[in-house]
Amino acid sequence: MEEIMNQNKAAAGELAGKVALVTGASRGIGRGIAGKLAAQGAVVLVNYNGSEQRAREVAKEIINAGGHAECIGCDVSDFTACGGMVEYIMEKYGRIDILVNNAGVTRDNLIMRMSEEDYDRVLDINLKGAFNTIRHLSKYFLKQRSGKIVNISSVSGVMGNAGQANYSASKAGLIGLTKSVARELASRGVCVNAVAPGFIDTEMTQALSQKAREAGVAAVPMGRMGSVEDIAEIVAFLAGNKSDYITGQVICVDGGMAI
Ligand code: NAP
Repeated sequence: MEEIMNQNKAAAGELAGKVALVTGASRGIGRGIAGKLAAQGAVVLVNYNGSEQRAREVAKEIINAGGHAECIGCDVSDFTACGGMVEYIMEKYGRIDILVNNAGVTRDNLIMRMSEEDYDRVLDINLKGAFNTIRHLSKYFLKQRSGKIVNISSVSGVMGNAGQANYSASKAGLIGLTKSVARELASRGVCVNAVAPGFIDTEMTQALSQKAREAGVAAVPMGRMGSVEDIAEIVAFLAGNKSDYITGQVICVDGGMAI
């Protein structure tokens, strides 16, 4: 692994020599973030839960483009499994510099009809999943006296959204987690920020009805959906050195939705 790390340090790019873990990187926004960080020189650990084949394709795409990537399966809602994932990365690569908590799910319903199971599962993945990775990783970040954590929240967590009480609660919780951990780790040079995407074209939003998609676009002042690249770009900025004096912030990338 030392060889990869040395080659990687020699690679061009703002993130050369860095190791990044991106959760939920088998598709959608996570896939875009993984590709962007790798293109900037980072070794990228492509986390997935159910979509192993697709995660392998993401890693293959990065490697074919001259980057370094490895897939790592783990359900982020499982505290012990997250500990195992972090230990594996530390043993193999000796460091982690960037953690992107992107894994997320929706189980939408009106509050009157929302099941306890759907509430719990969304909170377990979207919010506790981020706690799990941060909890296991923070000791290494503290020791390194550097690190970048980027949590993918949502405008739903900023504004609320009818039919998404579970999702909005998880994403608002993620903002509280971001700000608290940012305060705890700031003095050790670790930055913790959140990105709150608006209405982004991925499988998550493709699963919505045509009517819901139209209503979503109508709520965007810029009048269009955002792309995976729009999010990956800001995450790469928050993961790199140019954002070293930014912590505890929530950056809405939403075409003006949350104005
Ligand atoms: P997506 O296309 O549905 O992808 C979700 C990703 O999360 C998949 O890679 C999935 O991996 C992973 N995942 C789900 N459960 C997991 C678990 N238990 N452990 C590990 N990984 C898990 O969604 P997306 O649109 O790209 O969304 C990515 C993030 O952005 C989410 O946090 C979402 O809430 C947020 N976001 C999206 C939008 C939007 O408009 N799309 C807006 C605001 C915020 P597997 O298939 O391998 O399980």
